Amino acid sequence: MGHYIQTGAASKRVAGPRPDHAARASGTRFRLLALLPVLWLAAAAPLRADAVLQTPHVRIVHAPESKHRAERIAAMTPAIIADLQRQLGLSFTIRPTVVPAPNREAFYQLGGRPWFTAFAVPRKQLVVLDMSRLDRPAGDIYTTLKHEYAHLALHQAIARRRLPRWLDEGTAQWASDGLSEYLPTTQRALLPQAAAAGRLFDLDDLAETFPEDGQGLQLAYEQSRSFVNYLVRRFGDDALRLLLQSLSAGASPREAFEVSLDIRLADVEAEWRESLRGPGSWLAGLAGQVYGLLFFAAALATVGAYWRFRQRKRLYRAGEDEEDEP
Ligand SMILES: [Zn+2]
Repeated sequence: MGHYIQTGAASKRVAGPRPDHAARASGTRFRLLALLPVLWLAAAAPLRADAVLQTPHVRIVHAPESKHRAERIAAMTPAIIADLQRQLGLSFTIRPTVVPAPNREAFYQLGGRPWFTAFAVPRKQLVVLDMSRLDRPAGDIYTTLKHEYAHLALHQAIARRRLPRWLDEGTAQWASDGLSEYLPTTQRALLPQAAAAGRLFDLDDLAETFPEDGQGLQLAYEQSRSFVNYLVRRFGDDALRLLLQSLSAGASPREAFEVSLDIRLADVEAEWRESLRGPGSWLAGLAGQVYGLLFFAAALATVGAYWRFRQRKRLYRAGEDEEDEP
Protein backbone atom coordinates (compact mmCIF):
# COMPACT_ATOMS: atom_id res chain seq x y z
CA MET A 1 0.00 0.00 0.00
CA GLY A 2 2.67 2.49 1.05
CA HIS A 3 1.85 6.10 1.63
CA TYR A 4 -0.86 7.46 -0.54
CA ILE A 5 -1.28 11.18 -0.52
CA GLN A 6 -4.60 12.42 -1.68
CA THR A 7 -4.31 15.19 -4.18
CA GLY A 8 -7.35 17.34 -4.48
CA ALA A 9 -8.74 18.98 -7.58
CA ALA A 10 -7.00 22.20 -6.65
CA SER A 11 -3.57 20.65 -6.86
CA LYS A 12 -4.35 19.13 -10.22
CA ARG A 13 -5.13 22.53 -11.61
CA VAL A 14 -1.68 23.79 -10.79
CA ALA A 15 0.02 20.69 -12.15
CA GLY A 16 1.87 22.62 -14.84
CA PRO A 17 4.86 24.69 -13.84
CA ARG A 18 4.54 28.40 -14.27
CA PRO A 19 6.02 29.34 -17.62
CA ASP A 20 9.26 31.20 -17.74
CA HIS A 21 7.95 34.61 -18.50
CA ALA A 22 11.32 36.09 -19.19
CA ALA A 23 11.93 33.58 -21.94
CA ARG A 24 8.72 34.40 -23.69
CA ALA A 25 9.04 38.10 -23.08
CA SER A 26 12.28 37.88 -24.97
CA GLY A 27 10.30 36.30 -27.76
CA THR A 28 13.50 34.65 -28.73
CA ARG A 29 14.13 31.43 -26.96
CA PHE A 30 10.57 30.29 -26.54
CA ARG A 31 11.51 27.87 -23.83
CA LEU A 32 7.79 27.86 -23.22
CA LEU A 33 7.48 25.40 -26.09
CA ALA A 34 8.64 22.54 -23.98
CA LEU A 35 6.06 23.41 -21.34
CA LEU A 36 3.07 23.84 -23.59
CA PRO A 37 1.71 20.30 -23.58
CA VAL A 38 1.79 20.36 -19.78
CA LEU A 39 0.22 23.79 -19.63
CA TRP A 40 -2.40 22.76 -22.07
CA LEU A 41 -3.37 19.79 -19.91
CA ALA A 42 -3.38 22.01 -16.85
CA ALA A 43 -5.60 24.51 -18.61
CA ALA A 44 -7.83 21.98 -20.27
CA ALA A 45 -10.06 21.44 -17.26
CA PRO A 46 -10.92 25.06 -16.41
CA LEU A 47 -11.05 26.05 -20.09
CA ARG A 48 -13.03 23.04 -21.30
CA ALA A 49 -11.34 23.86 -24.58
CA ASP A 50 -12.46 20.81 -26.38
CA ALA A 51 -13.95 22.35 -29.48
CA VAL A 52 -11.79 22.77 -32.56
CA LEU A 53 -12.71 24.80 -35.61
CA GLN A 54 -10.54 24.00 -38.61
CA THR A 55 -10.35 25.75 -41.94
CA PRO A 56 -7.63 25.55 -44.60
CA HIS A 57 -6.12 28.70 -43.04
CA VAL A 58 -6.38 28.32 -39.30
CA ARG A 59 -7.13 25.96 -36.45
CA ILE A 60 -8.97 27.42 -33.46
CA VAL A 61 -9.10 25.58 -30.17
CA HIS A 62 -11.84 27.10 -28.09
CA ALA A 63 -14.33 26.62 -25.31
CA PRO A 64 -17.61 25.30 -26.74
CA GLU A 65 -19.46 28.46 -25.71
CA SER A 66 -16.99 30.61 -27.70
CA LYS A 67 -18.03 29.25 -31.08
CA HIS A 68 -18.98 32.69 -32.38
CA ARG A 69 -15.53 34.06 -31.51
CA ALA A 70 -13.86 31.13 -33.23
CA GLU A 71 -15.93 31.75 -36.33
CA ARG A 72 -14.97 35.43 -36.35
CA ILE A 73 -11.29 34.54 -36.05
CA ALA A 74 -11.62 31.96 -38.82
CA ALA A 75 -13.37 34.47 -41.07
CA MET A 76 -10.75 37.20 -40.69
CA THR A 77 -7.63 35.02 -40.89
CA PRO A 78 -7.23 34.58 -44.70
CA ALA A 79 -7.36 38.34 -45.30
CA ILE A 80 -4.87 39.02 -42.50
CA ILE A 81 -2.39 36.49 -43.87
CA ALA A 82 -2.74 37.81 -47.42
CA ASP A 83 -2.19 41.34 -46.13
CA LEU A 84 0.94 40.30 -44.23
CA GLN A 85 2.36 38.56 -47.29
CA ARG A 86 2.01 41.80 -49.19
CA GLN A 87 3.30 44.02 -46.36
CA LEU A 88 6.28 41.91 -45.35
CA GLY A 89 7.18 40.74 -48.87
CA LEU A 90 8.14 37.35 -47.48
CA SER A 91 7.05 33.94 -48.60
CA PHE A 92 5.60 32.01 -45.73
CA THR A 93 2.85 29.48 -45.36
CA ILE A 94 1.48 29.67 -41.87
CA ARG A 95 -1.57 27.86 -40.64
CA PRO A 96 -1.78 29.11 -37.07
CA THR A 97 -3.41 27.46 -34.12
CA VAL A 98 -5.29 30.16 -32.24
CA VAL A 99 -6.48 29.75 -28.67
CA PRO A 100 -8.90 32.49 -27.60
CA ALA A 101 -8.64 32.28 -23.81
CA PRO A 102 -12.05 33.35 -22.46
CA ASN A 103 -10.68 34.99 -19.31
CA ARG A 104 -7.49 36.13 -17.59
CA GLU A 105 -7.15 33.00 -15.55
CA ALA A 106 -7.20 30.79 -18.62
CA PHE A 107 -4.76 33.14 -20.37
CA TYR A 108 -2.32 32.91 -17.46
CA GLN A 109 -2.65 29.15 -17.35
CA LEU A 110 -1.70 28.97 -21.00
CA GLY A 111 1.41 31.02 -20.30
CA GLY A 112 0.10 34.59 -20.64
CA ARG A 113 1.58 37.32 -18.48
CA PRO A 114 0.03 40.31 -16.75
CA TRP A 115 0.12 43.38 -19.02
CA PHE A 116 -0.02 41.24 -22.17
CA THR A 117 -3.09 40.81 -24.34
CA ALA A 118 -1.69 37.99 -26.45
CA PHE A 119 1.43 36.03 -27.26
CA ALA A 120 2.79 33.92 -30.09
CA VAL A 121 4.89 30.77 -30.01
CA PRO A 122 6.36 30.71 -33.52
CA ARG A 123 7.71 27.16 -33.59
CA LYS A 124 4.28 25.86 -32.70
CA GLN A 125 2.56 28.44 -34.92
CA LEU A 126 0.50 29.09 -31.84
CA VAL A 127 -1.26 32.31 -30.87
CA VAL A 128 -2.98 32.74 -27.51
CA LEU A 129 -5.35 35.68 -27.06
CA ASP A 130 -6.78 37.10 -23.85
CA MET A 131 -10.34 37.64 -25.05
CA SER A 132 -11.28 39.43 -21.83
CA ARG A 133 -9.12 42.33 -23.04
CA LEU A 134 -9.94 42.14 -26.73
CA ASP A 135 -13.68 41.85 -27.12
CA ARG A 136 -14.18 45.54 -27.39
CA PRO A 137 -13.63 47.23 -29.68
CA ALA A 138 -13.95 44.46 -32.27
CA GLY A 139 -11.07 45.86 -34.34
CA ASP A 140 -8.71 44.89 -31.55
CA ILE A 141 -9.04 41.20 -32.41
CA TYR A 142 -8.16 41.79 -36.04
CA THR A 143 -5.14 43.95 -35.25
CA THR A 144 -3.91 41.74 -32.43
CA LEU A 145 -4.17 38.64 -34.62
CA LYS A 146 -2.31 40.48 -37.33
CA HIS A 147 0.45 41.40 -34.91
CA GLU A 148 0.84 37.83 -33.66
CA TYR A 149 0.63 36.32 -37.15
CA ALA A 150 3.38 38.75 -38.17
CA HIS A 151 5.62 37.20 -35.51
CA LEU A 152 4.80 33.72 -36.85
CA ALA A 153 5.51 34.80 -40.42
CA LEU A 154 8.81 36.51 -39.57
CA HIS A 155 10.04 33.51 -37.64
CA GLN A 156 9.07 31.13 -40.39
CA ALA A 157 10.88 33.12 -43.06
CA ILE A 158 13.93 34.21 -41.05
CA ALA A 159 16.19 32.06 -38.91
CA ARG A 160 16.06 33.03 -35.27
CA ARG A 161 19.73 34.00 -35.04
CA ARG A 162 19.30 36.48 -37.90
CA LEU A 163 16.13 38.09 -36.55
CA PRO A 164 16.96 40.58 -33.79
CA ARG A 165 14.21 40.91 -31.22
CA TRP A 166 13.86 44.65 -31.88
CA LEU A 167 13.31 44.00 -35.59
CA ASP A 168 10.87 41.17 -34.87
CA GLU A 169 8.82 43.35 -32.52
CA GLY A 170 9.20 46.61 -34.44
CA THR A 171 8.13 45.01 -37.73
CA ALA A 172 5.16 43.29 -36.12
CA GLN A 173 4.05 46.66 -34.68
CA TRP A 174 4.60 48.39 -38.01
CA ALA A 175 2.49 45.73 -39.75
CA SER A 176 -0.31 46.05 -37.19
CA ASP A 177 -0.69 49.83 -37.13
CA GLY A 178 1.59 50.32 -34.15
CA LEU A 179 -0.25 47.90 -31.91
CA SER A 180 1.67 45.62 -29.61
CA GLU A 181 0.62 42.84 -27.30
CA TYR A 182 2.10 44.71 -24.36
CA LEU A 183 -0.09 47.08 -22.37
CA PRO A 184 2.22 49.68 -20.87
CA THR A 185 2.57 49.99 -17.15
CA THR A 186 2.39 53.76 -17.43
CA GLN A 187 0.07 55.83 -19.59
CA ARG A 188 2.85 58.00 -20.95
CA ALA A 189 5.25 57.15 -23.74
CA LEU A 190 8.71 56.72 -22.25
CA LEU A 191 10.67 57.19 -25.46
CA PRO A 192 10.84 61.01 -25.73
CA GLN A 193 12.17 61.48 -22.20
CA ALA A 194 14.56 58.53 -22.50
CA ALA A 195 15.90 59.93 -25.78
CA ALA A 196 16.29 63.42 -24.33
CA ALA A 197 18.07 62.06 -21.27
CA GLY A 198 20.30 59.72 -23.32
CA ARG A 199 18.80 56.69 -21.60
CA LEU A 200 17.84 54.68 -24.71
CA PHE A 201 18.91 51.06 -24.94
CA ASP A 202 21.50 50.15 -27.56
CA LEU A 203 19.72 48.09 -30.21
CA ASP A 204 22.41 45.46 -29.66
CA ASP A 205 21.15 45.04 -26.12
CA LEU A 206 17.65 44.37 -27.46
CA ALA A 207 18.76 41.82 -30.04
CA GLU A 208 18.36 38.73 -27.88
CA THR A 209 15.99 39.59 -25.07
CA PHE A 210 13.95 42.48 -23.74
CA PRO A 211 14.27 43.75 -20.15
CA GLU A 212 11.97 42.17 -17.62
CA ASP A 213 11.00 45.21 -15.56
CA GLY A 214 7.85 47.05 -16.64
CA GLN A 215 9.46 50.36 -17.62
CA GLY A 216 12.37 48.68 -19.39
CA LEU A 217 10.01 46.41 -21.28
CA GLN A 218 7.82 49.33 -22.29
CA LEU A 219 10.80 51.33 -23.51
CA ALA A 220 12.07 48.30 -25.47
CA TYR A 221 8.68 47.99 -27.21
CA GLU A 222 8.58 51.74 -27.94
CA GLN A 223 12.16 51.76 -29.26
CA SER A 224 11.48 48.80 -31.54
CA ARG A 225 8.45 50.48 -33.04
CA SER A 226 10.16 53.86 -33.33
CA PHE A 227 13.26 52.46 -35.04
CA VAL A 228 11.35 50.39 -37.62
CA ASN A 229 9.04 53.33 -38.31
CA TYR A 230 12.15 55.46 -38.80
CA LEU A 231 13.52 52.93 -41.30
CA VAL A 232 10.28 53.06 -43.26
CA ARG A 233 10.15 56.87 -43.21
CA ARG A 234 13.78 57.23 -44.21
CA PHE A 235 14.11 54.42 -46.78
CA GLY A 236 10.53 53.44 -47.67
CA ASP A 237 8.60 50.27 -46.99
CA ASP A 238 10.15 48.55 -50.03
CA ALA A 239 13.50 48.89 -48.28
CA LEU A 240 12.12 47.20 -45.17
CA ARG A 241 10.89 44.34 -47.38
CA LEU A 242 14.33 44.11 -49.02
CA LEU A 243 15.93 44.01 -45.58
CA LEU A 244 13.63 41.19 -44.44
CA GLN A 245 14.22 39.33 -47.71
CA SER A 246 18.00 39.43 -47.34
CA LEU A 247 17.72 38.20 -43.76
CA SER A 248 15.47 35.45 -45.03
CA ALA A 249 18.07 34.57 -47.66
CA GLY A 250 20.69 34.11 -44.96
CA ALA A 251 22.36 37.50 -44.45
CA SER A 252 23.23 38.64 -40.93
CA PRO A 253 21.51 41.84 -39.76
CA ARG A 254 24.71 43.83 -40.36
CA GLU A 255 25.11 42.43 -43.88
CA ALA A 256 21.42 42.89 -44.64
CA PHE A 257 21.56 46.61 -43.76
CA GLU A 258 24.59 47.18 -45.97
CA VAL A 259 23.23 45.15 -48.88
CA SER A 260 19.62 46.34 -48.90
CA LEU A 261 19.84 49.85 -47.44
CA ASP A 262 23.44 50.64 -48.34
CA ILE A 263 24.14 51.89 -44.84
CA ARG A 264 25.67 50.46 -41.69
CA LEU A 265 23.22 49.47 -38.98
CA ALA A 266 25.25 51.45 -36.44
CA ASP A 267 24.97 54.58 -38.64
CA VAL A 268 21.18 54.29 -39.03
CA GLU A 269 20.89 53.79 -35.30
CA ALA A 270 22.92 56.95 -34.67
CA GLU A 271 20.77 58.87 -37.19
CA TRP A 272 17.60 57.64 -35.53
CA ARG A 273 18.83 58.70 -32.09
CA GLU A 274 19.67 62.11 -33.51
CA SER A 275 16.19 62.36 -35.08
CA LEU A 276 14.64 61.84 -31.66
CA ARG A 277 16.57 64.80 -30.34
CA GLY A 278 16.43 66.95 -33.44
CA PRO A 279 13.90 69.57 -34.55
CA GLY A 280 10.39 68.23 -34.30
CA SER A 281 11.30 66.04 -31.37
CA TRP A 282 9.33 68.43 -29.17
CA LEU A 283 6.31 67.24 -31.17
CA ALA A 284 7.14 63.63 -30.35
CA GLY A 285 7.56 64.70 -26.77
CA LEU A 286 4.18 66.36 -26.88
CA ALA A 287 2.61 63.22 -28.33
CA GLY A 288 4.09 61.38 -25.40
CA GLN A 289 2.40 63.86 -23.11
CA VAL A 290 -1.02 63.47 -24.67
CA TYR A 291 -2.16 61.05 -22.02
CA GLY A 292 -0.73 63.35 -19.38
CA LEU A 293 -2.64 66.26 -20.90
CA LEU A 294 -5.81 64.22 -20.98
CA PHE A 295 -5.39 63.41 -17.32
CA PHE A 296 -4.67 67.07 -16.64
CA ALA A 297 -7.81 68.06 -18.54
CA ALA A 298 -9.80 65.48 -16.60
CA ALA A 299 -8.38 66.87 -13.37
CA LEU A 300 -9.30 70.42 -14.43
CA ALA A 301 -12.80 69.27 -15.30
CA THR A 302 -13.09 67.73 -11.86
CA VAL A 303 -11.89 70.91 -10.19
CA GLY A 304 -14.28 72.89 -12.40
CA ALA A 305 -17.17 70.64 -11.48
CA TYR A 306 -16.30 70.97 -7.80
CA TRP A 307 -16.11 74.73 -8.09
CA ARG A 308 -19.52 74.83 -9.79
CA PHE A 309 -20.85 72.56 -7.08
CA ARG A 310 -19.53 74.96 -4.43
CA GLN A 311 -21.08 77.89 -6.25
CA ARG A 312 -24.40 76.14 -6.54
CA LYS A 313 -24.26 75.16 -2.90
CA ARG A 314 -23.55 78.76 -1.94
CA LEU A 315 -26.45 80.02 -4.08
CA TYR A 316 -28.66 77.34 -2.63
CA ARG A 317 -27.66 78.38 0.86
CA ALA A 318 -28.28 82.01 -0.09
CA GLY A 319 -31.71 80.94 -1.34
CA GLU A 320 -32.31 79.10 1.91
CA ASP A 321 -31.28 82.16 3.86
CA GLU A 322 -33.68 84.25 1.85
CA GLU A 323 -36.42 81.78 2.54
CA ASP A 324 -35.55 81.87 6.19
CA GLU A 325 -35.73 85.62 6.25
CA PRO A 326 -39.42 86.34 6.10
ZN1 LIG B 1 4.88 41.53 -30.58
